[in-house]
Order: sequence, then structure tokens, then C-alpha cells
Amino acid sequence: MSETGPLSQAVFARNARVIAGGAVSLNRLVEPRIAFRRGRGARIWDVDGREYVDYHGAFGPHILGHNDPDINAAVVAVLQQETSLFGSGTTEMEGELAELLVAAVPSMERVQLTNSGSEATYHALRIARAHTGREHIVVIQGGYNGWHNEVAVNLMTPLEELGPRVSPGEYPLVPLSAGIPHGVFDRVHAVNFNDAPSVEYVLRRHPVAAVLLEPVLQNIGVLPPQPGYLEELRALCTRHGTILIFDEVKTGFRAAFGGYQSVCGVRPDLTVLGKAVANGFPLAVIGGRADLMACFHATEPQQRVMIAGTYNGHPVSVAAAIATLRKLRAGGDPMYHTMAAHTQALAAGLCAQAAEFSLPCVVSTCGSAFCQYFMDHVPVDWHDLARHHDFALDTAFRRALIELGVYHFPVHCKQGSVSAAHTAEHVQWTVDCFGAALRSVRASRGAP
Ligand code: PMP
Repeated sequence: MSETGPLSQAVFARNARVIAGGAVSLNRLVEPRIAFRRGRGARIWDVDGREYVDYHGAFGPHILGHNDPDINAAVVAVLQQETSLFGSGTTEMEGELAELLVAAVPSMERVQLTNSGSEATYHALRIARAHTGREHIVVIQGGYNGWHNEVAVNLMTPLEELGPRVSPGEYPLVPLSAGIPHGVFDRVHAVNFNDAPSVEYVLRRHPVAAVLLEPVLQNIGVLPPQPGYLEELRALCTRHGTILIFDEVKTGFRAAFGGYQSVCGVRPDLTVLGKAVANGFPLAVIGGRADLMACFHATEPQQRVMIAGTYNGHPVSVAAAIATLRKLRAGGDPMYHTMAAHTQALAAGLCAQAAEFSLPCVVSTCGSAFCQYFMDHVPVDWHDLARHHDFALDTAFRRALIELGVYHFPVHCKQGSVSAAHTAEHVQWTVDCFGAALRSVRASRGAP
């Protein structure tokens, strides 16, 4: 099978003439270049008619699988009822969704709705600043919190640019984008993951409004917090009057129905959700302590944080989110256990296959999220990962899987996602493909 089918090639060629860069997110410009057409359950199809079992899930949203019939029915119903985007007042559906969210996520007393995770983290930072009157923020090396100026820094930063691991201390900021005014970084501090002393180091030196982090780093795979780390951050933030924000855009409704905070028991002040909340429809949430969320309607102009957006609470997305949360809630523990069991089976299967080839391999999981690392332990932070993981093998392995019909996003360290639509048969077939993919990669590298 050639890497890219002829129809995919034609679509890319045509789109490149009119779409800057040829795709609508540069993160999607990966090899092999595939134009997709259809998705159903755990499977997706490209324009050449090739079928894949999908573990990318569009970077995580499709927790129930593609085009879940119940979610689609809810969306169709909303359109048939001539529900519209009114742009004035509120709707019954918005309230229903907010009630579901507040009931599901332990620290959420009040919520607001946006269209994307990036917007939601933006608002969370504004609230933290308005409430504390401070401007500095702490972010985590290897974390991702969106594309806006202050957080688009230090993801998979080359170690040559980053320098050695610093603890306690902070890293030089390495932007993910051009066009960010330099002054922005005077008040942003990037520190190690799993390193509370470095957070304390910054909190002691600067007036910090917020510590913003993914509680499990899921944009460089799946890096779990070490025992006690999140508890220490909670205590430090409380002691310093700093707002603790959990970015649960990836872990929300995926680590567990109540997000990772319901697993670890640590309560952030603010939480950001996105992705799985609406099973692939565009919706994100910012929520948390009522006194903080009150900034959105404060009477004092110095405290009042603007929230606006033509499409906030779009009825299609709200209907999708209500249906998704209802379905996840009804599925309850058995549904989450099944997804986690399938994820564990994939992990065990891959490790067993790698062992046959004497390749060091660990698979880190969090609920239905997984990532393989070709190294002998689950990394604790970006430096550990960057030093020990075989990146070239990772990318080659993913591309070999795609050739076989398993769509695991072909960029090293990108998390895979299992959905409720994946079955034991999909998993067993995928494990067989893991073995075949490793064999073909080894053969192409000249190993027997
Ligand atoms: N936070 C996290 C943890 C994410 O993974 C992402 C997206 N990958 C975002 C924020 C930004 O969300 P969006 O792409 O919807 O703006």
C-alpha cells in the first residue's frame, strides 16, 4: 500500500491552492497526507476508500466514537425544532447543560461556555488576574493550554534550546508561534512538571495570579502526576493566594466522568473543559468557585471580566454536549471500565509485542488515553522523555500502523484515545497490527 492514496493527493493539491498551508490547523499537516471523508464509531475512511480503526479521535473529543447516533439525533432534533442561535438572553438548554456540568465536576460551582479550549483558558487567566490583581502566571514545560499569546510556549521544546533540567527554577520561554509580542513573556514562567519546588520558587519571587496546568500532561503523551504533586500545588497556591487552574480539556470526561480531579481528589479553583464534553462538536467550558466566576458579573468595573462570543452556547453544540453527558452518565462506571480495560489491553499487547523484539517499551495510560514510549520507564517530565524516548521509532511505528489500517496519529508522543465504540475485536486486531508494525519498522531499519 502506498503511503498516500491518489485521491488524497489530489485533494491536498487542490486545497493547497486556496488554503494557506493546505490544512486548517498546521498540527494536521502530517505524513502520510490523508484526506478523510467519513467516520462512524471507532472507524474512519479516507477519500480513497481506505478504512482505519481510529485512535486519534480528532485529538480526543470522540469519546463515544464518531457520529454517535444518539448525539446526532439530539443535534438533528434541535434543528428540526427550529431552535436557533438567538444571541440574546439565555435558553433552557444552556441551563440544563450547566446543571449537568456542575453536578459532574467536583469543583465546578458555576460555569460559562465558549467554543474552544483556547478561549476557555484565556478567560480563566483573566479571571485569575482580575480576582488577584496580579499579572504573572506559571505554566508547565510540556503542557499545552491553547494557542494564545501567553500559553503558546514550551511544549516539545528541543533540549538544546531549553537547556538542562532546572529545579528549583524556571526555563527560558520558547514560543510556539511567531508574532507574539516579546513583552508578554515578562510575566510568564515555565517550570518542570512533577516539580512543586520550582512552582514555589516562582511564587516566592513574583506576584503570581495563576498556576495553569494539565493535571496529567497529555500533549506529550500521557505523563501522570507523581503522588503528592498536585496536593503540593494545591497547598502552595492556597498559601500564596494564587489561583490553581486545572486544564482538563483532555482529561475532562475521559480520565473519569468527573475529570481527573475526581480521580486525584485535588480541587482546583478553576477548571477548563473541552473536547470530550460534546463528543466532537465545538464547545468548551470554564468553571469553578462561585466567588471567582462572579468576576463575570461583578459590579466593580476593576473586577468585571468580559465574556462574549457570537457563538457561545450555540444550540447545536449545547445539544451535543447535553446528549454526550447524559449518555456518559447513563453508561456510568461500566462504560468507563470497559474503555479503560480496552486501553489496558492495548497497552499490555503492545508491551508484549515489543518484548518479543527486545525493544524497551512502556505504555502510559489514563482512563481511555494512552501513549507508548520506547524507553524503559514512564517519563516523569519532558527532560526525562526527551532524553530516553526513541522518537524516530515512535514516528515510524505510527506510520507503519497507518499502512496497516490503524490510525494512531503519526507524530511522536501524541496521545491515543479509545472510545466507547471500540470493541474487544478492534483491540485484538490492533494488537496484532502492533506486532506487524514493529516487525516492518525493524525490517526497514535493517534488523532481522
Ligand atoms: N488545553 C489542552 C490540554 C489541550 O489539549 C488543548 C487542545 N489540544 C487546548 C487546551 C486547546 O483547546 P482548543 O484546541 O479547543 O482551542
